[in-house]
Amino acid sequence: MFRAIYLNKTPENTTSAEIREMHDSDLPQFERGAVTVAIDYSTINYKDGLAITGRSPVVRKFPMVPGIDFCGTVTASEHASWKTGDKVILNGWGVGEAHWGGLAQRARVSGDWLVPLPEGLSSHDAMAIGTAGYTAMLSVMGLQAQGVTPGHGEILVTGATGGVGSFAVSLLASLGYQVVASTGKKDEAAFLQSLGAADIVDRASLSSAGKPLQKERWAGVIDTVGSHTLANACASTRYGGVVTACGLAQGMDLPMTVAPFILRAVRLVGIDSVMAPLEVRRQAWARLAKELRRGAIESISKTVTLAEALPVAQQILSGAVRGRVVVDVQ
Ligand code: NDP
Repeated sequence: MFRAIYLNKTPENTTSAEIREMHDSDLPQFERGAVTVAIDYSTINYKDGLAITGRSPVVRKFPMVPGIDFCGTVTASEHASWKTGDKVILNGWGVGEAHWGGLAQRARVSGDWLVPLPEGLSSHDAMAIGTAGYTAMLSVMGLQAQGVTPGHGEILVTGATGGVGSFAVSLLASLGYQVVASTGKKDEAAFLQSLGAADIVDRASLSSAGKPLQKERWAGVIDTVGSHTLANACASTRYGGVVTACGLAQGMDLPMTVAPFILRAVRLVGIDSVMAPLEVRRQAWARLAKELRRGAIESISKTVTLAEALPVAQQILSGAVRGRVVVDVQ
């Protein structure tokens, strides 16, 4: 038997969420390559908040065990790459949306979706990083692949106290970039400075409709927010600068003109963690294990129980959570 957060549809078409005792035989079956994992830790990401509250239709079938991330130990494997006792990480691949996920003590997934826990990281570290930290690394890699170096100038990070944002600030600062953190939480300035932010801007300066072209400031941007914030970030990026876009905390829309692209050669790079190829994932996790300051992991994350994860799912959608929330599923 094991415990899991269990989501279902109510007759009123809302989502119900409860902690439920389940049996191993309840776990989904796979035609080939199934791996069963005893989970140590999971996390609450923004997308998990959407799934648990039913705020957005991210869950594609019910009943569902949410949780887009987990880290644990293989207990049974029908996959050539994995054997009992291996420590593994799962991020994305539609887990917690279309396949049962990590907010549980056990999971069964395709072995094609797992990456090994890198040397030097504990299960708890890996989930403190989670999809958010891995996406922050993909965003940093996106800037670097386009040739943005620390010498080019300031890098803006939006949604800076969020999971992706706080890891992006820390990673960029460790790599020597001059980071400007945009936040709506004025009282978290000291936290952002401790992660390495050189300057802080009030997110209100970016969150309303602005001019198509604005004063050039950013050599690069890691945007986690979308909508007007992303539009204004592009409009104030310097000639030839690079903007990565991974999130929609403000909105899915992108109300802007093509002016930054056709007059300033600004490049907009999309970042997706969910279907990223295995090789890219392995590279991102290897870099996280090497390049992330250990103190950052502790200061960015806090740990809650499976039952405490339910209210956190509400809080993350209102932008009230700082950093990352690890879920101890035991
Ligand atoms: P969090 O909720 O932890 O962080 C989001 C942050 O955005 C908040 O902490 C807040 O930061 C800011 N924010 C919230 N609401 C608003 C608003 N209305 N206007 C402007 N800023 C706002 O989420 P994550 O960091 O986990 O994820 C960030 C985004 O990235 C989400 O949209 C998520 O879905 C997406 N994502 C995408 C991935 C991908 O593969 N593309 C992977 C992971 C996440 P502050 O108070 O500091 O301003």
